[in-house]
Amino acid sequence: MNHSLYIHIPFCRHRCHYCDFNTYTGQIGSIPAYVEALISELRIVSLAKPDIPIHTIYFGGGTPSLIPVSIYEEIISAIKAGFMLGSDCEISLEANPGTLKKEYLHRLVGLGFNRLSIGVQSLDPFDLVRLDRIHSIWDVLESIHHARLAGFDNINLDLIFGLPWQDLETWKKTLLRAIDLSPEHFSIYSLIIEPGTPLFNWYQRGLIKQQDQDLEADMYELTIDTLKGSGYEHYEISNWAKYDQNWDFRCRHNLQYWLGYPYLGIGAGAHGFSDGFRTVNTLTIHDYIKRMSQDDFLQMPFPGTPAQISMDAIDIKTQMSDFMMVGLRLVKEGVSEARFRKLFGRSMTEIFSQEITTLTRQGLIEWSEAEERKLHLTKRGVFLANRVFMAFV
Ligand code: SF4
Repeated sequence: MNHSLYIHIPFCRHRCHYCDFNTYTGQIGSIPAYVEALISELRIVSLAKPDIPIHTIYFGGGTPSLIPVSIYEEIISAIKAGFMLGSDCEISLEANPGTLKKEYLHRLVGLGFNRLSIGVQSLDPFDLVRLDRIHSIWDVLESIHHARLAGFDNINLDLIFGLPWQDLETWKKTLLRAIDLSPEHFSIYSLIIEPGTPLFNWYQRGLIKQQDQDLEADMYELTIDTLKGSGYEHYEISNWAKYDQNWDFRCRHNLQYWLGYPYLGIGAGAHGFSDGFRTVNTLTIHDYIKRMSQDDFLQMPFPGTPAQISMDAIDIKTQMSDFMMVGLRLVKEGVSEARFRKLFGRSMTEIFSQEITTLTRQGLIEWSEAEERKLHLTKRGVFLANRVFMAFV
């Protein structure tokens, strides 16, 4: 079965004020040893199960665009040596504006990268300063310009709304400016003030407040309506793409997760799911390198690697719950009854009879019968999606 490959690059120049991701600053010097460890991990998985077909690769972070192209050449060669890379493989790189130079982008395209996900977050100078981003609006414009010249025709912009100091008007300005840049895809999330971040510290000291929930819902609704009016299909709770009969710029890598297909997680803190096992890698760069530099591990059962702190067999009931929770994120497509039966040999309506009846009565989910019978969120359900997902836990 086609797999996806997620590769984590946990290096950043500087930590943004809202960030609690698994990333580290001041460790650029560890990049060569880290890459060596990544290549070992790729080799171990591919030896345990040779020639797995790979149809998407996603380099996430962190700031993957901090890594020199020569290193990506090594990683892609290692992937080609151990896996069967599809000729139309989607290869994405997460990048920060301010780290993308013309020559760098040209070489990435030459190497087969065909999707760029740019962490813009806001197009308001005040927001960028408060979030402590390393880039300016000018850097965003320049990055997109260079990416287009290099040949990237599939660009995602990441944005955040619901900033504590933001009102509807300032969010609308960011969104409209972003639409003017004509990306093929948007990932847009509301801010969560995470413990341990400077924003959380400001919040505890009373310097900022949580965003008002009604205003946040208004911002989300404005986002949905504005992007629809600009030709973007709202295909997942937080994702929009140019998508019609002529083109499909939905993120194929993330669709793999949402549709419950297998993926391998390589690198510090990466998660995977394959052959009924869920894997979680050790978080820190130091421990990752240490674990991967042991030399007595070459034979490990797939999808095990020494980097993992857990590799758990997922029971069928949990797999069915995950399938519902993750699949319902696909707001238009929803979950297919036929596919559920094919995967699990049981009927979705039989297993989740009570949950489906309750949520349907509450107006949060409904059946569509267009081509095949599928369960999906209603418009009200999109706004109360967490309540729906929790019902399947
Ligand atoms: S660039 Fe991204 S990963 Fe790095 S610190 Fe900022 S938000 Fe976190």
